[in-house]
Amino acid sequence: MSSVVLTGIGELFTADPELGVLHAAALVVEGSRVAWVGPARQAPAADTGYDVAGRAVIPGFVDSHTHLVFAGDRAEEFAARMTGTPYSAGGIRTTVAATRAATDEQLAANLARLVDEMRRQGTTTVEVKSGYGLSVADEARSLGIARHVTEDTTFLGAHVVPPEYADDPGGYVDLVTGPMLAACAPHARWIDVFCERGAFDADQARAILHAGKVKGLGGRLHANQLGPGPGVQLACELGLDAVDHCTYLSDDDVTALADSGTVATLLPGVEFSTRSPYPDARRLLDAGVPVALASDCNPGSCYTSSMPLCIALAVREMGMSPAEALTAATRGGARALSRGDVGHLGLGASADLVVLDAPSYVHLAYRPGVPLARETWLRGRRAGL
Ligand SMILES: [Zn+2]
Repeated sequence: MSSVVLTGIGELFTADPELGVLHAAALVVEGSRVAWVGPARQAPAADTGYDVAGRAVIPGFVDSHTHLVFAGDRAEEFAARMTGTPYSAGGIRTTVAATRAATDEQLAANLARLVDEMRRQGTTTVEVKSGYGLSVADEARSLGIARHVTEDTTFLGAHVVPPEYADDPGGYVDLVTGPMLAACAPHARWIDVFCERGAFDADQARAILHAGKVKGLGGRLHANQLGPGPGVQLACELGLDAVDHCTYLSDDDVTALADSGTVATLLPGVEFSTRSPYPDARRLLDAGVPVALASDCNPGSCYTSSMPLCIALAVREMGMSPAEALTAATRGGARALSRGDVGHLGLGASADLVVLDAPSYVHLAYRPGVPLARETWLRGRRAGL
């Protein structure tokens, strides 16, 4: 197994609680794993050396919430929203029609384009949901395509009730928990429900998550995005790994999150792109709730793939420190996906890292909108640059 020692690391943000932030550091990669981390002057020998010339190194971002299997875009809807039309869950149906009409090759090519766009911005682990097919065949093929780019695929047949079931939402839930789940479970690690007014209520979400669990899928939930609701409490009661959005929370919701250990995944790109109030990350952190940041990249409510943008928004608008935001975008995302191997640069971790064109990780928030990811390393190899 070949090894490489990264030297000249001006600042190393490990996202490992034991190691913290190191200065004048080195890091040894052996094969696909981190084999050593410490002060540069103590670095062991390796097969090759690679000098990053004083730049900062961080773990690759773990984007634990995306919707990347789709066709078309909704630029016109965005423009209308920016001139006063409010966002509603119903816009999803526009993308469903385009996705159903697309070929497998078109969906795979769009997905590959977006994953490449993410890599260039430093994302090394990505979760991908279905949810724009909403038929047995279209959901199963969406997950089959997603599986080529990630092991963290999520079945989101319960994204919205499709038009052909508009008069029979109960019938659609039966489809999701029956034949659709049976066709999708072999391609998915997770199951998710959009639990919101205009989508699915708590009883429907409970039934769908239960059916997924029986098939061996882990549960996640979209909840409390557009207003207060029962989703966060349900996620905590069921002990889900993550509940995502968490924009409108009661004190009881925050207490339940702190007690359950369910990760609250915040998606500030959505609030930015829908001109909506941001979630209060400070309130969650102060209550001891584990927090993740993710992009929610999708063609409707948030068409950004940029984790650095999410970090900048979390710091500027949501009360997070730069260190808290970067931790949430790396280790936090990994926890939301129940992954111990990514999201940090401790010993044995997957060697997924980003060399920043900056002397410090703080620049991610300090220099918003600037492409700072100089190199992305994926499992020990410099990727696509
Ligand atoms: Zn989402």
